[in-house]
Amino acid sequence: MSKKWVYLFEEVAEAEKYAGNWEGVRSLLGGKGSGLADMTRAGVPVPPGFTVSTEACNEFRKTNSFPAGQWDQMLAALKEVEKQTGKKFGDPSNPLLVSCRSGAKFSMPGMMNTILNIGLNDQVVEGMIKLTNNPRFVWDSYRRLIEMFGTTVFNVDDEVFEHPMAEYKAHKGYKLDTEMTADDWKALVGTFKEAYKKHIGSDFPQDVFKQMELATKAVFESWMGKRAIDYRRATNISDDLGTAVNIQTMVFGNMGEDSGTGVAFTRNPSTGEKKMMGDYLLNAQGEDVVAGIRNADPIEKLVNNMPEVYNQFMDITSKLEKHYKDMQDVEFTIERGKLFMLQTRSGKRTAKSAVKIAVDMANEGLISKEEAVLRVSPDNVDALLHPQFDDKAKKEAEKAGKFLAKGVNASPGAAVGQAYFDADTAERMSKEEKQDTIMVRPFTKPDDVHGMIASKGVLTSEGGATSHAAVVARQFGIPCVVGASAIKIDLEKRVMDVDGKTVKEGEWISVDGTTGQVFIGKIAATAPTLEEQTELLTLLTWADEITARPDIRTLPDGRKAPGVQVWANADYPKDAQRARSYGAQGIGLCRTEHMFFEPERLPIVQKMILAETSEERTKQLNLLLPSQRKDFDGLFEAMNGQPVIIRLIDPPLHEFMPDEEALLEEVITMRVKGETTGLAAKEGLLASIKSLHESNPMMGLRGVRLSIAMPEIVEMQVRAIFEAAADCALRGIVVKPEVMIPLTGTVKELEWIQPRLVRIAATVLAEKKVAKLDYKFGTMIEIPRAAVTAGEIAKLAEFFSFGTNDLTQMTFGYSRDDAERNFLVTYVEQGILAVNPFQSLDREGVGKLMQWAVNEGRKTRPDLEVGICGEHGGDPSSIEWCHLIGNNYVSCSPFRVPVARLAASHMAMKYNGATIKEDK
Ligand code: ADP
Ligand code: MG
Ligand code: MG
Repeated sequence: MSKKWVYLFEEVAEAEKYAGNWEGVRSLLGGKGSGLADMTRAGVPVPPGFTVSTEACNEFRKTNSFPAGQWDQMLAALKEVEKQTGKKFGDPSNPLLVSCRSGAKFSMPGMMNTILNIGLNDQVVEGMIKLTNNPRFVWDSYRRLIEMFGTTVFNVDDEVFEHPMAEYKAHKGYKLDTEMTADDWKALVGTFKEAYKKHIGSDFPQDVFKQMELATKAVFESWMGKRAIDYRRATNISDDLGTAVNIQTMVFGNMGEDSGTGVAFTRNPSTGEKKMMGDYLLNAQGEDVVAGIRNADPIEKLVNNMPEVYNQFMDITSKLEKHYKDMQDVEFTIERGKLFMLQTRSGKRTAKSAVKIAVDMANEGLISKEEAVLRVSPDNVDALLHPQFDDKAKKEAEKAGKFLAKGVNASPGAAVGQAYFDADTAERMSKEEKQDTIMVRPFTKPDDVHGMIASKGVLTSEGGATSHAAVVARQFGIPCVVGASAIKIDLEKRVMDVDGKTVKEGEWISVDGTTGQVFIGKIAATAPTLEEQTELLTLLTWADEITARPDIRTLPDGRKAPGVQVWANADYPKDAQRARSYGAQGIGLCRTEHMFFEPERLPIVQKMILAETSEERTKQLNLLLPSQRKDFDGLFEAMNGQPVIIRLIDPPLHEFMPDEEALLEEVITMRVKGETTGLAAKEGLLASIKSLHESNPMMGLRGVRLSIAMPEIVEMQVRAIFEAAADCALRGIVVKPEVMIPLTGTVKELEWIQPRLVRIAATVLAEKKVAKLDYKFGTMIEIPRAAVTAGEIAKLAEFFSFGTNDLTQMTFGYSRDDAERNFLVTYVEQGILAVNPFQSLDREGVGKLMQWAVNEGRKTRPDLEVGICGEHGGDPSSIEWCHLIGNNYVSCSPFRVPVARLAASHMAMKYNGATIKEDK
C-alpha cells in the first residue's frame, strides 16, 4: 500500500499518531488543515473536506508530479465527502462544489493560491440554477471560478478579467457589483471564457476532476512562487516545509441577505484589548472582506442582523481561544442562516498587542508567566520603544493646516517619509536612493509586499483593519493607516488629494499608525518611555524573576548559576538613571574620556597632554580632578547598591587635539598674510600634534600603553573615582566601583600599573576614613593575546569585560569602518560571512576566544566576574552565546536594556527545555 498522503478532516487522530505530536500535525497538514481538523474534532461546524499533506507537496516539488497513490487517495476522500454532504462532485442534479486552499505550517496571508467554486461547468451551472432558483448567484460563482482559475492556475494578469468587467459595468452605467443581474453575470461568463481561451490557449476545463487536479498542482507550485519566496525570506520561514492543500466543501455567503462572510480576531490585534474585532459582509463570498474591496461592517452589528448566529459565533470563538490558549484569527461564512467556521489560527498582532495579550492571559490563568514571557519576542520589545509622534507637534501641524485625513489605525507607530504610489517605486527609492519612503495605494495585494517592507509606513485609501495592507503591516511592525477614504489617489498623475490639498509623489508625509491620522510634511516623533507601558514593565519583571533563579543555568564547569544579567553602558549620571529605570543591574562601561571633551575641560586636557614635565602635567590634572570626581559622584548615586565599571582613559591622545590639517591651514594663512601675533604658539601646537602623529593610532599609544607612558592621567582618575566613592559611602550610598584597565595584551602590563592604582585607592580610603568598600580592579579583554593568556591575566584582574568591538576587529584583522564601508556587505551577500560580525557575535572565532578566556580565567580565579560591553550586548544571538559560555552579565546601551532582559530570560528558559517560539 502506498504512503498516506491524504487525511480527511475527521482523521486528525491518525495524523497525530503518525506525526508524533501537535507540532508534527501542524507540519504535516499545515496550519489551516490542522486547524480545520481540530475544529471538526471539537464539534465546531466546519464544511467537510480533506487535506493533502505537505509531504506530498515536497514529493511533487522533486518530480513535478503527484507521488504514487495521492490522486487515488484524493478520489477516495472525495467519495467520503460526497457521503457526508449527500452531494456529488460534477453531478448537475445535486452538485458538490469545493474550494482548493493552500495552507503551510506558518500562515502566509494571501501569499499562495486558493481557488473557490471548483466543480462548476456548463452543465452543473444549469443544474444548480434549478436547484437554488438563484441564477444570479450561480452565474456569479461561475465567473469567479473562471477568473480565479485563470489568474491562479495559469498566472494570467487580473486585468485580463477585470478590464472587460469594468467595461461591461461602465457600458451598463453600474457602479457596484450588486447592480449586476443574473443575465449580466451570464453574459460576463461568456466574455470571461473568451478571455480565458485567448490568454491561455485552451478552453476553460469542463472536466471537474481536471479542475481539481490542476488546482491542487497550482497550489503546490505556488509554494515556489516569487510572492511566497519573498515572504519566506522576510520572515525566515524555511523553503523545505512545503504547503498542504485543503479540498473543502463550498459554503456560500453570497446566497442572499441571510448569508454572509467575515473575518475576526478574538482580541484586538492592534492594542490587545480583550474585545472581539472583526468585519463581515452580507451576501458576499470569502475574499471580498479580506481584499477590502467592499467596505465591511464591524462584527458587533451582526447581532442585529442575525442574533442567534452571532451568539453561536461568540460562543465558538471563545471556546477556540481557550482551547488554543491564544488569540485566534478566524474566518467564517453564513449560508442561509447557518454558520460555518472556515479557519482558525493564532492571530498576527502588533508588538503592543503581543505584550498585552501575554500579560492578560497570564493574569487570567490561561497561561503561565513563563509562557507569557516566551510569547513576546525581543523584536516586539524593541518596537515598543520606538518613536511615536509628539502630541504637541501634531496639534501644531493641525493648526498649520497640514492635517490630510484620518483612516483606520491598522498598525501602530510613527512613520515619516516620502510618498510613492506603487511598490516598485517605493522599494527603489528606499533601496537605491536611501530615502525614507511611505507606500501609498488605494489598497494592497500580495505583489505589493516588497514595497511595504522597504517603506517606513503604509497608507491606503480603502480597506479595513483586516485588509491585506493591515495584516501585512502589523506582521512586519510597519506603521500603517488604511481606509483613509477622504484621500483621492490619482495613479496616473501621481498625486493624491483631499479637498484641494494635494501631495505629489515624492513629497513628505507623516503617517500615525497609532491614531490613524495622516499629515502633510514631517512631524517630530519621540520614543515612549518604559514607565508609561505598564504591561511591558510587568512582563519584564517576570522575565527578570526567571533569569534570576539561582539554579536556572548550569555553567560550563558544572556549577549552578542564574542567567545572564543585563547591565548598561552609561557615561553620565543621566544615562545611568535611564539605564536603571530601564532595568539595568549595573553599569558595565563608563567611558571616562567623554568627560574630557566637555568645552570647559578640553583646553585643560590639551595643556595636560602638551606638558613638558611631570609636574606641569600633574598641575593640569589637578585642575581636572574635581570635575571627574563630580561625574563619578553622580554615577554612584544613580546606581546606589549596584556595581559601576569605570574604564580608565583609552583613546590615543591625538583625539583630544585640534585637527592637524585645519591648524596647518591657519598657520599658512597667517604666514602668507604676515600676521605674527599668536603665530609662534600655533606653530608650537602644530609641532606637538605632529609629534603625536601615529600611522595607525588605533593600534598605537592608547589604553594601558598610554597609562604606562603617562601614569599621571590614570592616577588622577583613580583618585577621583575613590574620592567620589568614599564621599558617597559616607553619605550612606552603597558604592561598588570596578576600575577597568583597557587594552591589556600581557599580564606584565597589569603587573606594572595595577599595584600603583590599588595603592592610590587604599590611600584615598584611608584619608577619607572609609573602612570598608567593595571594589575591584579588572581589565578589558579585547586583544586576542589577552584572551589566549587569560589564565595569567586573571592572576591580577578580578574581572574581565570583553570589548567585543575591538576583539572582533583584532580577531578578524578588520578595521570596522573600512570593513563596513568597503567589503562587509559583499562578504555577507556572497555568503563568506553569515552576518556582519560587528552586529552579531562570531561564535566560531571571536566567541571561541571568549569561551577559552572564561574557562582559563576561572581556573585561576573561580569567582571571576565576566561580562561584555560593546554593541553585541544588546543582540539576542550574542546574549545566547554569553549565556552558554558563562558570562555573568552583558552590558549594552540603556535603550537596548529591555530587549536584552527579555532575550536573557528566553535563553535561561531555552536551556531548561523551553522552545523559543518558532511561529512566524
Ligand atoms: P488565505 O490563506 O489566503 O486566507 P483561504 O484558503 O483561507 O486563503 O481562502 C480565501 C477565502 O476563501 C477566505 O475568505 C475563505 O474563508 C474563503 N473560502 C475558502 N474555502 C471556502 C469554502 N469551502 N467555502 C466558503 N468560503 C471559502
Ligand atoms: Mg484564510
Ligand atoms: Mg576597546
